[in-house]
Amino acid sequence: MTKRALMIQVARLLPLLAAVLLPGCALFEEGAGLSNFRTVIVDAGHGGYDNGAKAVKGLPEKMLTLDMARRVKPLLEARGYRVVMTRTTDVFIPLGGRTGISNAHPDAAFVSIHFNSSPRRAANGVETYYYNPRSAPLASNILREIATCYGSHSRGVKFARYYVLHHNQRPATLLELGFVSNAKENSSLQNPRVRQLLAEKIAAGIARGHGGRAPVTGS
Ligand SMILES: [Zn+2]
Repeated sequence: MTKRALMIQVARLLPLLAAVLLPGCALFEEGAGLSNFRTVIVDAGHGGYDNGAKAVKGLPEKMLTLDMARRVKPLLEARGYRVVMTRTTDVFIPLGGRTGISNAHPDAAFVSIHFNSSPRRAANGVETYYYNPRSAPLASNILREIATCYGSHSRGVKFARYYVLHHNQRPATLLELGFVSNAKENSSLQNPRVRQLLAEKIAAGIARGHGGRAPVTGS
């Protein structure tokens, strides 16, 4: 390569280098909203006539999700977050009602709690979902915490066009905390001590991007 050709190569790379090196540049502004949330919308999936997945034995999905949401709430409050529950009892809330609550809170992140089910009885493991790429870090932070917490395994962070994610203007994730169609996993999930551990891990995952506590804002 001649000296001139080398200079041209360097000149072409300069804007890229600047983008990588300059703090606060446009490349990173996309995720700014993610680091600032102080309110967490905790969404217990299903409810009322919508039972969600039927467990091999024990509580159906709608009751497990409600129990989880009730456990997560005080743990997040202890970390300095404001918590808004989409439901606190066994009632049906339409999907639009759930995203409406989220979109009404400018400083919120949205976490929807679910349990999985499959006709393939051996299916097991936990996974988290996002729709907007700026929600991927939240989904990933929570998955890292819950991945193996009760002998479960990670099925990964996944993209999906779920209504509560797709119609959400806030950082939003949907958690699948294990398969109630799997006898072994269901027997763990029906144990309140396992659900408490899962709740602690979820709270830790939500706070992970903030160093463990809700960010303090003066603005
Ligand atoms: Zn569900």
